[in-house]
Amino acid sequence: MSQASSTSSMLPYEEALNLLLQHMASTQQTEVVPIEQAAGRVLAQTIHAQYDAPRFSNSAMDGYAVADINAAHWQVVDYVSAGASTAHLQLQAGQAVRIFTGAAIPAGTEAVIPQENISLDGQQLSLSTTDTSGKPVKALKPGQNIRVKAEEYGAGDVLMSAGQRLSAVAIGLIASQGLAEVDCYKKLNVTVLSSGDELQALGQALAENQIYDSNRYMLLACLQDYASIFNIQNGGVLRDDLAQTKKRLQEVAASSDIILFSGGASVGDRDYAKQALEQIGTLQHWKLAIKPGKPFAWGRIEGQTHTTSVFLLPGNPVASWVTFSVLALPAMKLLAGIPEARVRPTYLEVASSHDIENKNFRLNFMRGVLEHHQGEQAPTVQAFPARLQNSAMLASCVASNALIQVPGHAHIAAGDKVKVLLLSNDI
Ligand code: AMP
Ligand code: MG
Repeated sequence: MSQASSTSSMLPYEEALNLLLQHMASTQQTEVVPIEQAAGRVLAQTIHAQYDAPRFSNSAMDGYAVADINAAHWQVVDYVSAGASTAHLQLQAGQAVRIFTGAAIPAGTEAVIPQENISLDGQQLSLSTTDTSGKPVKALKPGQNIRVKAEEYGAGDVLMSAGQRLSAVAIGLIASQGLAEVDCYKKLNVTVLSSGDELQALGQALAENQIYDSNRYMLLACLQDYASIFNIQNGGVLRDDLAQTKKRLQEVAASSDIILFSGGASVGDRDYAKQALEQIGTLQHWKLAIKPGKPFAWGRIEGQTHTTSVFLLPGNPVASWVTFSVLALPAMKLLAGIPEARVRPTYLEVASSHDIENKNFRLNFMRGVLEHHQGEQAPTVQAFPARLQNSAMLASCVASNALIQVPGHAHIAAGDKVKVLLLSNDI
């Protein structure tokens, strides 16, 4: 095949991702989840504010609430701590109240003076000329250090919408509204299967020309980061046999919303995944203009109660990992209820540490690390490609935390910007 014809018959990555996402229908199934178990889940409802925030005007500092900011001094007449009632208080000209952070602002207050900025003579309060660290104290401004009722949002305002993944802050916000449970999309059941006559189970002795099944464990591990949106099942290994593959896919589909299937997705005589899926469901398959990952395919199996989305990942371990990250995972997130705009991988633009040449027309997802580099002026983040880039070579990926996108036929000089998908910050 000439390069021109192979180029034109292969689908560019962005187009493939668009098509893939277009075909994913988000789950509609929801359940009520106690707030303690909702971290990381996908919200399935609108959260309206139950209360104004702040619910009442309160002090932003420990200090003194004063009536008139232009007075020379004030008489301290009362003491208000957080949670205490101020209903009985009405500050008059020349009066102040000892107050603490979060305590309600008494009626008649114009400003709160931080306790670092005052001097006190008996009950007579005045503004210091310098604060406790020696800096000059500025004149008071109206409203200073007062958090005004509803300044952040008002009761009834929309705080969050369906599709939001519940971060720790989101959980905090929901709790701040007094809600003990929320509607979330149900977790999707994901089963990981691998296939290949050459695969041996871990712990068993390898016969001649066998290898251990590493993809299944790698993919199960990839999913661990998303255990809050997926129930993860290990579906075992399949032989290269069409009848068995069909039977097992059907069995697994009955209990799965999603199947991740590695190996057998290519065009070899013993690659049965596509054939099997085509015969028991539907198959969508393009040749992708990406490296690694050209044979990625997907499809679905229609059951009586639900549809199962099936992602066929290449057997080569690096290709399996890359296509999971840049294609299957975004689609799976969409299925789980996350809106399309938020499932697409986000790329950083950083300088390449080295010259890179992509002699191939396919977009190369090079494995590498993002690392701080001590430049002449300031440290910069640079993308360092791993030394070995073969799609069968996992060892070179162990220290990788990023995929560096190198477009087809690109020549990148050291220092040029490249698009990088950061996979993990914690490597
Ligand atoms: P395939 O996609 O089945 O043609 O496999 C491509 C390459 O990936 C072959 O070298 C396989 O031996 C290897 N491979 C397939 N499945 C796995 C797996 N689960 N773990 C490790 N390597 C695999
Ligand atoms: Mg195989």
